[in-house]
Amino acid sequence: MSRSTEAAALTKLQRLKTSYQTSIRRAYEHAAEDCRTCRTPGACCLDAHFVNVHITRLEAVAIRETIERTPRLSEDEKRALYLRARQAVRRYSLRASGDTFSQTFACPLYVPRLGCLVHRRAKPAPCIQHACYANWEDLPPDSLQARAEHRVEELNREVYGAEWAWLPLPLWLTLVDPRGDGAELEILIREWTRRGRQQKSNSNHHARRKKIDARNKKVRSLPVIS
Ligand code: SF4
Ligand code: SF4
Repeated sequence: MSRSTEAAALTKLQRLKTSYQTSIRRAYEHAAEDCRTCRTPGACCLDAHFVNVHITRLEAVAIRETIERTPRLSEDEKRALYLRARQAVRRYSLRASGDTFSQTFACPLYVPRLGCLVHRRAKPAPCIQHACYANWEDLPPDSLQARAEHRVEELNREVYGAEWAWLPLPLWLTLVDPRGDGAELEILIREWTRRGRQQKSNSNHHARRKKIDARNKKVRSLPVIS
């Protein structure tokens, strides 16, 4: 299968996120607390015991492009964002291995003066889904987030094959830092490629084994001619 280009996938990702965000806003957010009048704005993004937002490689690239293009941040502020991401990786010991979803952190994309830096163009699915609801029954169903994330996974596979993973957001930011040398990402790509090959070879072996078992079964069930 030929791979899609990253640029084409980014366009599809943007369309997907916009449509998901619009449907959540129209159907559910009227029942949620208004973030503009929140007494603890940003508490939901900076609570290091609660936030474990994971993103994919394509989403990390979308965030990087959004940050690079925004006129709302100076060059120094853009640099500071990646510095905050590195500090979060160190401070909360964020890793690309093990049970990454148990790792929590304060999100480096939240800036008190501006709010979420990627609110309009590159917000992760759990953040689109999240709002403060007084009643549980008003929450959007988890299936909406699962569907959006499934499509995000498909887009990543189309562009990168096996060379990506769901990782804590600050960690991905450090891997795609436009001022970095990309060495850490290269190491992970080699690891994901090796794992992808291993999984493929295991599944080929499994398929071959099934074929042999089926053939043996057929042979065993041949009628005995006396
Ligand atoms: S999601 Fe909740 S905590 Fe976060 S800014 Fe909105 S109202 Fe405040
Ligand atoms: S990506 Fe935006 S909404 Fe999500 S946790 Fe970070 S600052 Fe908050």
